[in-house]
Amino acid sequence: MLTLDTHIDIKWPETPDWLTETEQRVDYPKMLRGGLRAAVFIAYVGQGKRDAEGHAAAAARADAMLRHIQARADGDTRRFCTTPDELEAAYAAGATAVLSAVENGYSMGRDLSAPARWRALGAHYLTLTHNGHNDIADSAIHLPKLGDAGPEEHGGLSAFGRDAIGALNRAGLLVDVSHVSKKGMMQAAEVSRSPIVATHTACRALCDHPRGIDDEQLDMIRQVGGVAQITALDAFLKKMPQGQKNDASVEDMANHVDHAVARIGIEHVGLSSDFDGGGGIAGWKDASETANLTAALAARGYDQAALSLLWSGNYIRVWRRALSLAG
Ligand SMILES: [Zn+2]
Repeated sequence: MLTLDTHIDIKWPETPDWLTETEQRVDYPKMLRGGLRAAVFIAYVGQGKRDAEGHAAAAARADAMLRHIQARADGDTRRFCTTPDELEAAYAAGATAVLSAVENGYSMGRDLSAPARWRALGAHYLTLTHNGHNDIADSAIHLPKLGDAGPEEHGGLSAFGRDAIGALNRAGLLVDVSHVSKKGMMQAAEVSRSPIVATHTACRALCDHPRGIDDEQLDMIRQVGGVAQITALDAFLKKMPQGQKNDASVEDMANHVDHAVARIGIEHVGLSSDFDGGGGIAGWKDASETANLTAALAARGYDQAALSLLWSGNYIRVWRRALSLAG
């Protein structure tokens, strides 16, 4: 089955050769061992000063990372895919699929032409914020060290943020609401022409972490036809007593999948790891253990068709919709 992990960070700028066994949780050998067929690698841009200089540096970094990710493919056994058709063709040919996306709308600065440029570089989504508010939206986690005065700066999306979503829609990039405040996320769902996605999230009903989404947010994702990708990050999955090491496992992740599916239906739920960006849990510590997650979900009663929807079918449907609404 086409197993697609929708959020994997990479080390930058000193990036190890991903064709060899590395210290990273995801490299090509681990993907082959674990049966992970497709990976969305992220051009992650940490936030600096929100001025012209900071924005220019952020844009340059995102572009360089996107070029690097594209260069991970050889067009043969490893194919860079920029559309659902290319992804499905790569899978059919037995090739590993390499995809890219940008994390943190900070790298957009105030430049509404950035989404079209990223699209030309092969990226297919933008995570609107990271931790800390930016010019687009409020973050779920505000950072005083970045100058955030409190949990809200814009009351959700800024006016520029609404324009930014329009530019993403026109370019055919998916709008990723992971990291965005609840208000910003709910507004983005309404403003975006295409269904929103949360590429790495979890259910607050089971673990009340600000990076997760609550049941109202899950309902909104269903309402707009989007998808919530449950991710393998321990702190989002399981609350631990103070000072105790988090021992979240694939069973905890399966609990979150069960909750989301019960609430909004199998067609609006998916899977991701956040590997090399904080992700990794007992049973799915790196890409080589991908089959363990599939087995844990199968044991819960998800059949082949359901597993295929969770692993890529739903996400591909939403991505196709975004491209059909572009232009
Ligand atoms: Zn993230």
